[in-house]
Amino acid sequence: MKNKLFVMSAPSGAGKTTLKDLVITEFPDIHYSISATTRAPREGEINGVHYFFKTKEEFFYMIEHNLLVEWNEVHGNYYGTPKCFVEETLAAGFRVIFDLDVFGKMNFDKVYPESTGILVLPPNFEVLEQRLRARNTDSEEVIQLRLKNAKMEIEFAKTCGKYEFILINDNLEKTADELRQILRKQD
Ligand code: ADP
Ligand code: 5GP
Repeated sequence: MKNKLFVMSAPSGAGKTTLKDLVITEFPDIHYSISATTRAPREGEINGVHYFFKTKEEFFYMIEHNLLVEWNEVHGNYYGTPKCFVEETLAAGFRVIFDLDVFGKMNFDKVYPESTGILVLPPNFEVLEQRLRARNTDSEEVIQLRLKNAKMEIEFAKTCGKYEFILINDNLEKTADELRQILRKQD
């Protein structure tokens, strides 16, 4: 099971989505679990591709009806992993990669204790801030909140023992190669 479920986490802006998008097409047997969220779509984000964009009411319905593997409130919005996709994809013999915040990974492990945890970190805070700004998707208020949360997330992630791999994303191609090596492992 270890190499069937991969969970990527990172402080916002570290480059997790960029890395995943760069590498995932090379692994047709690994499917990306699209999360549900109450966050508003960013420019270019497509419902059902990047996220399932939900109202709070719809999201709470999913919680109440036990339709999520895990969920958490992150940076002021709700995010969760739809259950049926994971079950169906595993049953069909595919592997699954998830994008979860560091606390979501803890709850995820209660359901699937044997996943591979991959933590993506920026080389330092200055670079993290530069990347969040350069991405040009978030307001100043949102950037400040994400930077504030990043300190706590990194502290927690480094000590929680949930991440077998820590990738320092300084150079994109180098880090993408490290990710490829991890995903190449089969049971
Ligand atoms: P995350 O998904 O972790 O929040 P993103 O993948 O959206 O982060 O990346 C944040 C920004 O940093 C994007 O504009 C992306 O192009 C850029 N980026 C990602 N990795 C690198 C890297 N190694 N060097 C320079 N810029 C990067
Ligand atoms: P963003 O708004 O930048 O797309 O994502 C913000 C945070 O939410 C990131 O830390 C990301 O890993 C996390 N996230 C995305 N989907 C899920 C999910 O399904 N569950 C949990 N717990 N966190 C998620």
